[in-house]
Order: sequence, then structure tokens, then C-alpha cells
Amino acid sequence: MRSPGPETALAEAEPQVTPEAAPARGLTNIRFFTDYPVCNYKCPYCVAGHAPPEGRGPSPWDEDRYLAIIDNLCRLDFPINIRIGVGGEFFISKTLVEGARRLAQADHVQSINLITNLSFHPKQYARILHGIPKEKVALVASYHPTEIKNEDAWIAAAQELSTYYDLTTMSVAYPPSLRNLPEVKRKFAAAGVDHFIQPFIGEFEGKMYPQAYDAEERAILREVMYSRHDHEFLLNLKKPGLCNAGFKFLFVDPVGKVTQCGGFQEGQQLGDLAVSPELAFFDGPRPCPAMVCQCDTENINTVAFETHYKYLDKNQHRFAYRFAEEAKQHPWMSEWEVPY
Ligand code: SF4
Ligand code: SF4
Repeated sequence: MRSPGPETALAEAEPQVTPEAAPARGLTNIRFFTDYPVCNYKCPYCVAGHAPPEGRGPSPWDEDRYLAIIDNLCRLDFPINIRIGVGGEFFISKTLVEGARRLAQADHVQSINLITNLSFHPKQYARILHGIPKEKVALVASYHPTEIKNEDAWIAAAQELSTYYDLTTMSVAYPPSLRNLPEVKRKFAAAGVDHFIQPFIGEFEGKMYPQAYDAEERAILREVMYSRHDHEFLLNLKKPGLCNAGFKFLFVDPVGKVTQCGGFQEGQQLGDLAVSPELAFFDGPRPCPAMVCQCDTENINTVAFETHYKYLDKNQHRFAYRFAEEAKQHPWMSEWEVPY
């Protein structure tokens, strides 16, 4: 994989990539994957590699470089929504939180999406995030039943935290616990806490998922999943089609290299935020170069998503079907009738 400096990358830019024109640029979504490698859990389905027995390998995580990238993100002159991604637990690291704090102080940063396993007390989150305007923070708390001792206490903590912050919660449909999901979802709903469910990605008992879910498991998932969008992209592995990645969205890797998305990092380099805030963008949506898009921060960039869904607020996983009202009158307009 080539890794040119920013000057080289921009000089090699193809005609459809344009230098940034600050006044014209609208809200841009950014996913900054830091690969921070420390976690206090060992979930058996961990895509970050913490699953026993080996645990995860080395990481390019570097505190000084992380803060240098953050400072260049703070120098951008167009509005951004940012998600800081990790390969572990965000709230273990004071440096990660310091980065979020710096971003929150920048006027052009409209929202900061963070993910946590909710292993701390809700009041600790409020303490850790003290000084960061609540209206800029959106949290996804992932529910890991193999790691927590008391499900009801966890849901109560999510309920309390949702009174402080824009919060949603999520579960992974790990095959051994899949049949519990309708009950889990019901409990979250009874507590008034948003909950979404994502298919398991990986190997279980020699079979690769999500492809290996059988018909009965798929019927359960059909009932509990958040949207037709999630169902098609995350379970049925829809071929993505046209996508706004590189146009309205950028991916920043742990060393600051900017590309259109995390699903196609071998694509054209659009900047190096470890060095400078200079960026280039595509001039419109382009066909997805990947076969599938299983990252929910990224498949929301597809034109299919933009056409059929809209955000309810700043949280990356709180959205609604645009034509839900019409579908009440005309069932053929339901999201489940959209041709995919
Ligand atoms: S909490 Fe997340 S990062 Fe940590 S082990 Fe579980 S799935 Fe992996
Ligand atoms: S659909 Fe996903 S993988 Fe494809 S270009 Fe968009 S963000 Fe990248």
C-alpha cells in the first residue's frame, strides 16, 4: 500500500478531486479511527481483537500524533460531525478524552460521536466529560452480556446516562445469545432507552457470519433490527452502489492519512492530518469500490441511505425512514418495500 506525503498525494489527485473551497463546503462527517488498543472487556465476538485466547496484537496508537491530528481537525474551516473510533474502550484514556475536549472547543465542530461499553458509573461519564458542552456529545453504549454482571443495573445506568447525553445502545447478535434479543430489546424499550442490534461479523463454530444465520435466526433479526437499511447492509450484505464517501465524508486512519472511507483505504489519499489540515474532496458521489459496507458509520454515506433516511439528531445511529408518515396511508411506501 502506498503512503505518500500530502503534497505528493494532492499532486497525484485525479480531475474529480478538488482543492477545498471553505465557504462552499457544508457539514462534513468524519470518522477518525484511532485504534486505541486498551479495553477492560474481552468480548468473545470482539472485532477489535480482544477475544480470548490471544487478545489483540500491536497498534499504531500514538498519543502525540493523536493530539496533532486533533489539532489539525480543529483548524478546519467548515462544519464537521466527527466520530472518534477506538479498538478498545474510549473512556480509559485521558488523552482520547482530551482530544474530544479540544474538538468541542472548536466552533465548527458540531457534534462528537463516541462509543463506550458503559462499564463506568453514569456520574463518572459526566465527570470525565465535564467542560464539554452536552449538546455536542452523542454516545453509543454497547451492551456486552458476556462481560457484565447485572443486566438490569446496566440498563438502569443507560437510562440515567441518557438523561445527561444523547445516547443510544446496541447489541451484537452473537449466535449463542441471538434468541434472547427480542427480550433484551423489550427491556430496553420498557426503560425508554434506544437500542439497536447489529449482526455478528466473524467466525462461530466454524461458520462465517452474518452469512451463516439460518432462516429462523434471520426471522428473529428481521423483527429486532433497527431499520431496513441496517437489515440490507449489515445482514444481507447489499452491494453499496453510489456513495458520498470522499465527498461529504472522510476517513482518518490512526496515523492521520485521509481517504474516502475505512472500507477502501487503498484508495486515493486526500490529506495527511498528522502534518496539515489541507484536504481534498471528490466533487460528487461515486460508485462504491467495495463489495459490501458493514461499518454503520460509513454505510450511512450511501446515496441509498440519503434518499430514504434522515437523522433525528446528532447521534450517528438515530435516524428514521423519510416516508414513514406516507407509508401509514400507503403500505407499499414502507421502507420494507423499497427495492434494494
Ligand atoms: S468492549 Fe468492545 S473493544 Fe472491548 S472487548 Fe468488547 S467488543 Fe472489544
Ligand atoms: S459504501 Fe462504504 S465502503 Fe463503499 S465507498 Fe461508501 S463508505 Fe466506503
